[in-house]
Amino acid sequence: EDHIYVVGAGHAGGELAFALRQQGYAGPLTIIGEEGHLPYQRPPLSKAFLKGECETPSLYLRQQAAYDKANIGLLLSRRVERLDRAGKKLIFDDGREVTYSKLALATGGRARRMTINDAARAERTRNFHYLRNIDDVLAIRSRFEAGQRLVIVGGGYIGLEVAASAIARDLNVTVLEALPRVLARVTAPQMSAFYEQIHRNAGVDVRTNVEVIGLDFDAEGDAVTAVHCTGGVVIPADAVVVGIGLLPNTELAQAAGLDVDNGIVVNEHAATSDPDIVAAGDCTNHPSVFCGRRIRLESVPNAVEQARVAAAYLAGKPRTYDSVPWFWSDQYDLKLQMTGLSQGYDQFVLRGSMQNKSFAAFYLKEGRLIACDAVNRAQEFMIAKRMVAACKPFDPVALADETVPLKTLAP
Ligand code: FAD
Repeated sequence: EDHIYVVGAGHAGGELAFALRQQGYAGPLTIIGEEGHLPYQRPPLSKAFLKGECETPSLYLRQQAAYDKANIGLLLSRRVERLDRAGKKLIFDDGREVTYSKLALATGGRARRMTINDAARAERTRNFHYLRNIDDVLAIRSRFEAGQRLVIVGGGYIGLEVAASAIARDLNVTVLEALPRVLARVTAPQMSAFYEQIHRNAGVDVRTNVEVIGLDFDAEGDAVTAVHCTGGVVIPADAVVVGIGLLPNTELAQAAGLDVDNGIVVNEHAATSDPDIVAAGDCTNHPSVFCGRRIRLESVPNAVEQARVAAAYLAGKPRTYDSVPWFWSDQYDLKLQMTGLSQGYDQFVLRGSMQNKSFAAFYLKEGRLIACDAVNRAQEFMIAKRMVAACKPFDPVALADETVPLKTLAP
């Protein structure tokens, strides 16, 4: 019997199911998710939701009525343990199974765990947290009281957004980054320096080049009380949030013999090495037309776009995934928007003023524009996206010159 199942009720899974309906698939369709929530957006988890400015239902991509109307089934709080490709079966954690005709994997990722000896013990305490899910944030939020000492491990986007949210709630915040600068993996030293300064000005104790080597616990062992770092530094803590990256959920695919290599390997149509199975979102390793190589992305635009491409393939109308990567991050009064991938750039061009918190940073490689990071420049960002997508050389002098409107340079 015809039945398409989507494993993973996240941003990609939710989008994929509705895209299938839009593509004309009218048969049985069910989304399976291990969390107890309707598919929801994660970006607010470290921003408005963490600050307590919105509640769970507002995170949902769509409310239950939309699933009912589109006749999309939801099996929530259910984990798929095994995929039997020969029998076309999904086996659940409770041993039950269903048979699929086609399958979509949108399993996303999970927070990377710390590897120090004390980490496992810390996970059993009430004030040591990773941040990926609504439930994680509800626990962190309950610690968000003015004056509490929050130690954040990891100076990536999530760590820095948590810092900004905690400052908004008057906590005492320390950020520990193992590398010499924050955001080191994703942006230029100038951008890292800018964000470090912004956070220090806001009162965050930003420490780079420090690694966590141990934790102290209270006598009962149900709370972490301090964080030990290299160099003999000990930082007292009322709560710890760890944001040190993501591991893609590829185990299901791997055990079923699908190609996996830092993500479930898919082709330009989002099909896996099994033609009856597609994959989309954070869990995939896909060819990027734009980058000329395979990449794995962790962003909402990627999840949404790739889900639509995967749905088109399942509906028998394959199209090519060729979007240019883009991403955003909100911290304090700064709206950062990024497009392209800056790795390998050889020229950094600044347009506007970091001091005024309004600028666009352009990254060129051999004269060609490969990426742009824009802070509080939403309009210019829209133009920069087209410029980056064009894969063309641009004159760096004109890029930096604010008297030359960006739109006169754009293709
Ligand atoms: P996920 O959202 O991870 O969904 C996958 C779902 O599948 C999960 O619910 C998981 O539990 C479930 N699942 C996995 N395996 C199974 C199984 N075997 N059985 C059943 N269910 C399973 N992106 C941006 O573009 N901008 C931002 O500002 C931004 N901020 C972010 C802030 C935070 C705090 C976080 C965590 C992420 C942020 N992101 C941001 C990234 C963005 O949220 C992700 O790229 C997006 O959620 C990916 O969607 P996905 O559906 O691929 O994966």
